[in-house]
Amino acid sequence: MPSTATPDRAARELDVGALITDGTHHIGGEWVPAKNGETIDVINPATREVLLRVPRGGPEDIDAAALAAADAFPAWRDTNPMVRADLLYRWAELLREHQRELDIIERMEVGRPHWGPSPLPRMIIYIAGMVDKVAGKTLPTARPGLLGMTLREPYGVVGSIVPWNAPAHLMAHDVAPAIGAGNTIVVKPAEDAPLSCLFLAKLAAEAGIPPGVVNVVTGYGGEAGAALPAHPLVRRMSFTGSPETGTKIMEACAKNRIPLHLELGGKSPQIVLRDADLTKAVPAIVRSITLNTGQVCAAGSRLLAPPELKKELIGAISDAFAKVRIGPWYEDVQMGPLISAKQEERVLGYLDIGREEGAEIVTGGHKLTGDRFDRGYFVAPTIFDGVRPDMRIAQEEIFGPVLSVIDYADEDEALAIANGTRYGLTATVWTTDVNRAVRLAKGVQAGHVYINTPGSFGVIGAPWGGTKGSGFGRTMSADIVEEYTLIKTVVIDGDA
Ligand code: NAD
Repeated sequence: MPSTATPDRAARELDVGALITDGTHHIGGEWVPAKNGETIDVINPATREVLLRVPRGGPEDIDAAALAAADAFPAWRDTNPMVRADLLYRWAELLREHQRELDIIERMEVGRPHWGPSPLPRMIIYIAGMVDKVAGKTLPTARPGLLGMTLREPYGVVGSIVPWNAPAHLMAHDVAPAIGAGNTIVVKPAEDAPLSCLFLAKLAAEAGIPPGVVNVVTGYGGEAGAALPAHPLVRRMSFTGSPETGTKIMEACAKNRIPLHLELGGKSPQIVLRDADLTKAVPAIVRSITLNTGQVCAAGSRLLAPPELKKELIGAISDAFAKVRIGPWYEDVQMGPLISAKQEERVLGYLDIGREEGAEIVTGGHKLTGDRFDRGYFVAPTIFDGVRPDMRIAQEEIFGPVLSVIDYADEDEALAIANGTRYGLTATVWTTDVNRAVRLAKGVQAGHVYINTPGSFGVIGAPWGGTKGSGFGRTMSADIVEEYTLIKTVVIDGDA
């Protein structure tokens, strides 16, 4: 019988416990509790209700997962790449079939609104298409009897540590190319939002990806997380998260002498030039800082405005902020709560810092209160005007819906301000002058520069990653599966 429930009501009634086994990791194809028996409550940030419990894993659980991954590795490495690709296609198909559940789980744990159809299946299909094309080369030789070649081989067990802001997407970013290349993987999701990662692992198992190829160990960063890059069986790491934790992961990888792919934060500039089309720029700037409640590494959190446009820009953005529908994930909203009490404290703390530094709050600047907000971590979208480039609110990643407006006099100064932070993830330029667009595209220090567009949406295979303090390495590039392999040189002397 068709359900008579409204979509929102049906969403709230989704039985997450039935989709993901309560209180278990996914290790070696089994759903197992933490060895210490402890659990962590996963909270809905809009209501503070407990959604589910997950294991509070520790080094002993990471050890069990690394052993399971190592056991699974030889057979997986030797599996025909076409079969590995088929299994990724099947995983993508299941994600497509279950995208409603995946969307609801992630919305509940992160507190974000519905974002439309998930790009994940398409991304995995794109990656699966590379799997049977990874190949070595033959090398030129000095004599006919000599054969020189390179083989491309997987690393073995690889590790991935995932943050909470887009967990399923960021997990799949790492898992699909890693296992496509023949590696096996241990994933440590964020303690605040591990449910969608467990659901992805469940669908991977249902797709027929063999036990031990994808393992998920939940737990706190300082416990389960710290044990992963230090584990002797782990041969490569991938980390997405904060710069502070990134430094710790680098240190652990250096001690373990393993390579690392690092995706960190950003303080991305939105550079509005005098000739910009504000009808395009304003909605994109608003979306960039309110999407996922500003908890996006690429959030355009610094607005670089020329004096003659600043008043108009701030007025238009303030008006748009006032219209942003804010509320719990199951309503028709554009912006949800912050993920946790800790994150709320961080954002409110930066609002105080900005005031103390002498910046002026134009709109927002406070926690939202009232019936719909009292139980969740809701903060109003905020604009700070009069921000100097050296202020902390212009330099540090706030990771909330807070826009810092900085004046500049000319293009050279705009570029200097844009490049004047330790970060270098993305930058957006709004201009109708193609010469300026070219100069800024080349001059900005960032992994991505967007001109008159809020991102690389619609571009297929755009490599993702930063420069400077935003990390190194690229995901989603056209050779990402190859990056999960090592080169072995083989020389055969046929004259011997
Ligand atoms: P975080 O560094 O606190 O946590 C990220 C992950 O690291 C979590 O799984 C956490 O449990 C784990 N962790 C924490 N301490 C650890 C330790 N000592 N050893 C090992 N693991 C540890 O970051 P967060 O608050 O979850 O995420 C927000 C940050 O992530 C922001 O800075 C954001 O910009 C960044 N981010 C970057 C990208 C990107 O693609 N560049 C994407 C999303 C988020």
